Amino acid sequence: MKIKAQISMVMNLDKCIGCHTCSITCKNVWTNRPGAEYMYFNHVETRPGVGYPKHWEDQDKWKGGWALDKKGELALRTGNATKRIFKLFYHPEQPELDDYYEPWTYDYATLIDGKRKNHQPVARPRSLITHKRMDIKWGPNWDDDLAGGDIARQDYDLKKISEDIKLEYQDLFMKYLPRICNHCLNPACVAACPSGAIYKRDEDGVVLVSQDACRGWRHCVPSCPYKKIYFNWQTNKAEKCILCFPRLEAGLPTICSDTCVGRLRYMGVLLYDMDRVKEVAKTADETHICDNLLGLLLDPNDPAVAAQARADGVPANVLDAARRSPVYKLIKKWQLALPLHAEYRTLPMVWYIPPLSPIAKRVEAETSLPEIDAMRIPLSYLAELFGAGSKAPVIRSLQRLLDMRRVMRTTDTGEPLPAQLPGGLSADDYKKIYRLLGIAKYQDRFVLPTLQGNRSQQEMQALQGGHGYTCPGGCC
Ligand code: SF4
Ligand code: SF4
Repeated sequence: MKIKAQISMVMNLDKCIGCHTCSITCKNVWTNRPGAEYMYFNHVETRPGVGYPKHWEDQDKWKGGWALDKKGELALRTGNATKRIFKLFYHPEQPELDDYYEPWTYDYATLIDGKRKNHQPVARPRSLITHKRMDIKWGPNWDDDLAGGDIARQDYDLKKISEDIKLEYQDLFMKYLPRICNHCLNPACVAACPSGAIYKRDEDGVVLVSQDACRGWRHCVPSCPYKKIYFNWQTNKAEKCILCFPRLEAGLPTICSDTCVGRLRYMGVLLYDMDRVKEVAKTADETHICDNLLGLLLDPNDPAVAAQARADGVPANVLDAARRSPVYKLIKKWQLALPLHAEYRTLPMVWYIPPLSPIAKRVEAETSLPEIDAMRIPLSYLAELFGAGSKAPVIRSLQRLLDMRRVMRTTDTGEPLPAQLPGGLSADDYKKIYRLLGIAKYQDRFVLPTLQGNRSQQEMQALQGGHGYTCPGGCC
């Protein structure tokens, strides 16, 4: 066993309001420069929808991630090294600008400097690539909030499921899916890079592209099944989400997490057994990958794990953060959070608590809560996204979210609790889940070690002065 530490994120999808604040703050900090106009290290999709870039989940088209070969060994879907050599100068699975969108600005000068005229001045769109006037045909979040339209019917996961999902007006469902690079344990982007420019940081598992070593071969772009590597057309280098590593090193969360209006993001440390990563990624039946991935994560409060972690060089402050980690509780202890498309076999380290559908009928909310399989968002759809096709992990998570509501309702009304809750946790656990999901403070949501070690997380936050939508000093 070789124990490594990984900084991980959990997003509670029930609380995402699709405001895109996370995308805008990330854009302003990291990709607001020439060549990076179309890049969104963080973006938020409306589901059902086609996503960004369009149809990114269609791995028959893009060949992203890993598959098992005839011998049951892991193989990149873009082909082995020899096949990829022949694609050095022409890679047919590359997304093109139209798959993202052509970035544009507006002729604002006509509004500010134009001569006085009888009609209203208009700022027309102008391409940021060619600098010519353009007609806008597609853009980031073009299908925002359009979950019932024709675009929604092209949703890859909807098309995959056999049962008839109704998209009639009265049956519509919609949710938001914020996405960043998953800083995977078995990253396909790292394996595909012919220059060895992409690497996973030893100390915290952040996946980075060395701008000095990148030769612009772009093999990482199709290989990432989440399409979270972008090509900078000015520098001819690949770029990706860096998990705000300069902030992490100071014990601060990523800018998307810090500014999240819904306060739905949690960050902390996970410990995992590096020697078993390949074995889990090779799981023969892909519907078991989610549970096997949980088996890879280690209990930081187990004395044997702590001793081994220390022997493997995990620093004391990282081990301490792992013990207090909110993401460990949400992922492993309570098993509420699930990986996105685990069947890609990259072992993603950004996790999602699936959305419990709104309880539509007031009478239901006042009498009994609805059953999981009668929820508005179809289980089979959530299973495609978060269960690698299996409903079991999604049911477990949703059942526990429902049980939490039951427990909190009886706390308020004084009604007796059922002797046994179907989700299998204790009433005390559910109260702790409520606190973490509902009313957690900044220090509860983000438990990050400072990698320099000479200042605590609280000192760094105090130096920063205030953060996002949080009171200065982190009181809420
Ligand atoms: S999600 Fe990130 S770490 Fe995982 S394969 Fe894609 S770019 Fe690499
Ligand atoms: S800032 Fe938070 S609530 Fe707003 S879109 Fe992003 S993840 Fe959702």
